[in-house]
Amino acid sequence: MDIRLVQGDITEQHVDVVVNAANSSLLGGGGVDGAIHRRGGPAILAQCRELRGSRLPDGLPAGQAVATTAGDLPAGWVVHTVGPVHSTREDRSAVLASAYRESLRVAEELGATTVAFPAVSAGVYGWPIDDAARIALETVRAHDAHSVQEVRFVLFNQAAYDAFAARL
Ligand code: ADP
Repeated sequence: MDIRLVQGDITEQHVDVVVNAANSSLLGGGGVDGAIHRRGGPAILAQCRELRGSRLPDGLPAGQAVATTAGDLPAGWVVHTVGPVHSTREDRSAVLASAYRESLRVAEELGATTVAFPAVSAGVYGWPIDDAARIALETVRAHDAHSVQEVRFVLFNQAAYDAFAARL
């Protein structure tokens, strides 16, 4: 399995799975979540609402992942995951690692070959980018790949790209 880094916008990636750094409500937010719903169109939100009405009445807990259509995105599916909010009082690294691991598990269930990740929790949720990059790369490296051949980290700015490049 290859790990690639690109600086850019995850909504423009031609991949099987785009991972969304969602919030537990699954009903939309800012950052990468806002961009995915804007570019992907209403079909994604419609499936998120369906999930809230069926399997996930209380929303998606941090560290878990669930798939929907990718709507109008040039991707096969969106896998929504929820990263932890960064805390200085409590070590939530295991939850962040779980978000990557569970996203990959769902991607494998879908038979995905290519998976694009943003830097989960490194935006509004406040995770320091160097540590976010360490956890992301360690967790993805440890993944026992079946269908997945490429994991692409799509970093939105130079600082995030540099942090990942330093760890790769
Ligand atoms: P979280 O709430 O998990 O912190 P955010 O969406 O606020 O999620 O931020 C996660 C990361 O995604 C940040 O590094 C942010 O810069 C980045 N990001 C925001 N928009 C995009 C985009 N369109 N493509 C890729 N990454 C993005």
